[in-house]
Amino acid sequence: MKPMSCLPIVVLMIWVFGCAVPATRALSNPRFSFRSIGAGDPGCEVPTLVSAGGSMPKNPRTLVIRWTGYSNFELVYNGQIILLDAYFDRGAMFPPLGFKAADVKRANVILIGHGHLDHMSDAASVGARTGALVVGAPVTTEKLLTQKIDPKQVRTVTGRGGEVLKFPGFTIEPILGRHGEPPKDVTEAFENVLKAFAAAPTPEQAKERAAIRERGTSDPRVVAEGTIAYLITLDNGFRIMYRDSGGKVTDYEKAAMERVGRVDVALVAVAASFLNKLTVEQALEHMRTYKPDVYIPAHHDADYNGLWRPTEPLFQALKDENPNLITVSRGYREPVCFNTEFNVSKRR
Ligand SMILES: [Zn+2]
Repeated sequence: MKPMSCLPIVVLMIWVFGCAVPATRALSNPRFSFRSIGAGDPGCEVPTLVSAGGSMPKNPRTLVIRWTGYSNFELVYNGQIILLDAYFDRGAMFPPLGFKAADVKRANVILIGHGHLDHMSDAASVGARTGALVVGAPVTTEKLLTQKIDPKQVRTVTGRGGEVLKFPGFTIEPILGRHGEPPKDVTEAFENVLKAFAAAPTPEQAKERAAIRERGTSDPRVVAEGTIAYLITLDNGFRIMYRDSGGKVTDYEKAAMERVGRVDVALVAVAASFLNKLTVEQALEHMRTYKPDVYIPAHHDADYNGLWRPTEPLFQALKDENPNLITVSRGYREPVCFNTEFNVSKRR
């Protein structure tokens, strides 16, 4: 490379590493969080879940979010650990997450968005080991209570109002959502193609899959009364919306959002409808409803025979409509740290 052609790269590096996070920036960009708030803090640098023995962030006002496949997230704030969904032991047909359900030894609350196997299959075992409160819709907790967990740890919520759960440093409001309903003609066409190229499961893999399936429900009630969105509000006003299925926004969600106005972070499942036109349409409805500053996608990874749901077309469409939006997508377990007080005080 000629010396002159290096110049733009050098300028770019100075910009990124030298002055990307001025103190007056309106919103701390979590993509630069290692330098802005997490420098030297293993809680913001190490891809080890706190629930599996990793470090707490040094500042209790730091919110740490780690995505752990599908719609699973670990949230850490004020010394508390919130697990969103619990589908960790996915089996040999999936890329490894880097930990097992048995490694998760500490949690205060587990919020189950809905009861399909790929959202709750490890809820009972992790709940029993950690003693965490496990929260879900009636159809979810019904299934949970057929497994080994103390019923006193299980909380059933409908999301129809008046169910705010209080924890040290935050509250949780369950809101009735709706499961994704991707058009059958589209999903069947894609799934048939994938099936034609898929490696057939070995007898061991088939057995493993059947055991995992046993720990979730396929009750049709999941769609309209079994999918719960959770609004988490920190003690300083920082808000997080979690939605583990890419379905249509309900009147309950609209009413809640009319009341609170907006959220700081939305953790939202990408719709399962394959075609970008359809997944974008759904993501736009989510963004318009929750009005997040930061959008973090979920449910976009897949087993070895499947297809990851592309996030870049979503990010582009969301930013075309809302250029201020920050989108964040990281690898399994990589921490994203938020200085919650800074974000709240510098709110747009
Ligand atoms: Zn589902």
